[in-house]
Amino acid sequence: MSADGATARIDLHTHSTASDGLFSPTELVERASEAGLTLIGLTDHDTTNGVAEAQVAGASLGVTVIPGVEINTDIPEGQGEAHVLGYCLDVDQPAFQATLTFLRDAREKRGERMVQQLREQGINIEWSRVRELAQGTVGRPHVARALIEAAYATDVSDAFSRYLTRGKAGYVQRFKLSPEQAIQLIRSAQGVPVLAHPAGIAGLTVTILPALVHAGLLGLECYYGQYDDETVARLLALVSAHDLIPTGGSDYHGPNIHPTPLGERWVPPETVERLRQASEKLRAEPLTMFTLPEVSS
Ligand code: AMP
Ligand code: ZN
Ligand code: FE
Ligand code: FE
Repeated sequence: MSADGATARIDLHTHSTASDGLFSPTELVERASEAGLTLIGLTDHDTTNGVAEAQVAGASLGVTVIPGVEINTDIPEGQGEAHVLGYCLDVDQPAFQATLTFLRDAREKRGERMVQQLREQGINIEWSRVRELAQGTVGRPHVARALIEAAYATDVSDAFSRYLTRGKAGYVQRFKLSPEQAIQLIRSAQGVPVLAHPAGIAGLTVTILPALVHAGLLGLECYYGQYDDETVARLLALVSAHDLIPTGGSDYHGPNIHPTPLGERWVPPETVERLRQASEKLRAEPLTMFTLPEVSS
């Protein structure tokens, strides 16, 4: 089920209403506490805005919250999705926050275009409703919820497969950094970059992982969601080959979004110690800068 010998349960991959999770940072921490977790990583998409609230809730419930982020990136079509997690970031770094703001603004424009495209196909949902459903970073899950409310879909995955995946009426490409740029962005805030849920990435072993390690990747998410023992073992072999930190978590967004409940995927405390040590090492180095690429639209 998870890493060995865990008495203190630690889940390093969770989402709140700061992005596309269903629970506020406080509610998420309450549920984490009920599920027996002693530490969570809050890894909302393109934002760290939920971290402070989660840490306040955690302080009264005995749940440590480490600051995290998840950046979805661009790899060639057909190779899967490359998402980069960042841990132990300096969330007060202004240039880092400015880039996250840029990424969230780009998502707003994309969300509006998604609704516009759907409306052109006679799907009568409103951008204002999508915006209300999204309390922070806007994503396809919020468009999915508006589609469900208007009875165009029965649940989130039905909405995705009918309207929101590539080639469907509501699909609009999101502005994406390359995985290397996401690694640089996270390192510019002295955070530890980790490749998320990597098992489905085509070409991981031969091309992608060596390139990302070269770009400064420090960890690989091995104990993820529903990954079976064989998958975990395959990923741990890559961790050994590249001297990476193996991380893990549920990717919990709330009920009926991703299948793994809070408290059912965990990693040992040693993982967090290694992330903290790596972050301290980055803090001792000169600050690296991240520059946004030129954008055409
Ligand atoms: P976006 O970042 O706006 O492209 O939306 C991607 C997010 O939607 C992911 O982080 C998942 O949480 C969620 N998601 C993607 N595919 C599905 C699906 N088939 N069913 C439910 N949620 C999904
Ligand atoms: Zn998500
Ligand atoms: Fe992800
Ligand atoms: Fe995630």
